Amino acid sequence: MKWKNRGHEVENEAEQIVESFMRHGKKVFIFGAGQIGRYLEPVLSHYNIFAGYIDNNLEKTVQGINNQKVYSLEDYAARSEQGWIVIAAARKNIPAIAKQLLDMGYIEAEDFFIYSNFEGRILPILALFLYDQIFMTAVQVCVTERCSLKCRKCAHACYAVSNKAKDMELQNVFYSADCLFSKVDYVKEFVLIGGEPLLYKNLAEAIRYIGEKYKDKMGFFCITTNGTICPNQEILDACQKYGVHFEISNYSVQNPWLEDRYCKLTELLAENKIEYQLGKAEKQWMDYGFEYVDREESEEELIQVFDKCQTPCKEIRGSRLYFCVMARSVSDNLQLGVGKDDYLDLNMLSEREYKNVLLEFSIGYSEKGYLDMCKHCNGADAEKYLIPVAEQL
Ligand code: SF4
Ligand code: SF4
Repeated sequence: MKWKNRGHEVENEAEQIVESFMRHGKKVFIFGAGQIGRYLEPVLSHYNIFAGYIDNNLEKTVQGINNQKVYSLEDYAARSEQGWIVIAAARKNIPAIAKQLLDMGYIEAEDFFIYSNFEGRILPILALFLYDQIFMTAVQVCVTERCSLKCRKCAHACYAVSNKAKDMELQNVFYSADCLFSKVDYVKEFVLIGGEPLLYKNLAEAIRYIGEKYKDKMGFFCITTNGTICPNQEILDACQKYGVHFEISNYSVQNPWLEDRYCKLTELLAENKIEYQLGKAEKQWMDYGFEYVDREESEEELIQVFDKCQTPCKEIRGSRLYFCVMARSVSDNLQLGVGKDDYLDLNMLSEREYKNVLLEFSIGYSEKGYLDMCKHCNGADAEKYLIPVAEQL
C-alpha cells in the first residue's frame, strides 16, 4: 500500500476495530488448540485479552491445553460471554472452520478473523489505538549469512555466500535489538537467524544481551537452525536461562543423512531442558524466483504483488527495519543492489509521530507501496511454483 496520508492511514478503520472489540467484551478466543494457536496465546495474554480455546477435537475439550479451558463450538455458542474468535489453524483447515462459524451466524471480520490477518493487521492497529503499543508478529536478526548447507533456491540466497564472509558485528547485533525495542513494545517472535546462526561465534553473548534486556518484550525468543550443528555448553546455558526456543527446519526427505543430526540435536536440547520444534519433513518448497523473475509491470501491478504477498518476516539491521527479510538478504547475497532504500530507518522517525508511521509501515504502507525486489519475486504466486526441498549444490 502506498502512503497517501502518512501517519493517518488507518484512523477510521481503527475506530471501527476498537468499537467492535469493546462490543465483544475485549476478549479473544483462539479457534484451534494446536501449535499456531499456542504461539498466539502469550501475545493475547500480554494484552490480557485471552479468553480460552475452541477446538473440534473432543479430547482437547475434555483435557484442556496448557492448563487452559478448551470449548467445543457448541459450548462456546451457548456462553453468554463471547468475544472475537481467531481461527488459528493450518491453511488447508481454515475454510472448513470458517464455514462452521458462518453456518452458526458469526460474521467474518466482525465476530471472527483468520490468524494471519489478525496478527498482521487487526492486532497491530488495536495495540496502538487501544493500548498505545507497537506490536509486530515476527522480527529477525540475520547474525550471519554463512551456512553449513548450500541449498539450491535458498530463500535468502545463502548458497552464494563464501564461508569466509564477515558476520554481523556483535555490537551491531546489540544495536539492532536496542533500536528495535526502543520503538517496538512487543514482538510475537524475535528470531536469531542466518544463514546458520549456530555458526556465529558470538551467539551466546548475543542471547545473553538480548535475553537480559528484552525477554519480557517478546512472546518467543527463537533460534531458527537447519539442525546440522550442536550448540556448545555456553550457548545451551544462555538458551536455557532466557527460554530460547529452537525452530529446527526438517530437510530430511531430500537429505536423509540429516535425520541423525536432528536426533543428536534434539536429544541435547531435551537434556538441557530447552524447548524445540522439529518441523515436519518438508516435501516441497515454493520458488520465489528471485534469480529469474523480471517483471515489466506498472506501479499499480507491483503494489498488487506486494499487497497480496503479506510476508510476515521483518528484519532489523542496525536502525533499519526491512519489511521483507528475503528481499534484503537475496539482494545483498547475490549482490544485486536492488532495493537499497527499501527500509524504514527507526532513528529518523520523529518522537512525536513515530508510532503511527511505524504501525503503518509494519502493516505494509510505504512511500512506493512495494519493494524493488517485488519486481524479481513470484510473491504469493510462489505457491504455484513448487520445487524440491533443500537440494544441495
Ligand atoms: S535454506 Fe537454510 S539451510 Fe539452506 S542454505 Fe539457506 S539458510 Fe542454509
Ligand atoms: S513479493 Fe516482495 S515482499 Fe513479498 S516476498 Fe517477494 S520481495 Fe518480499
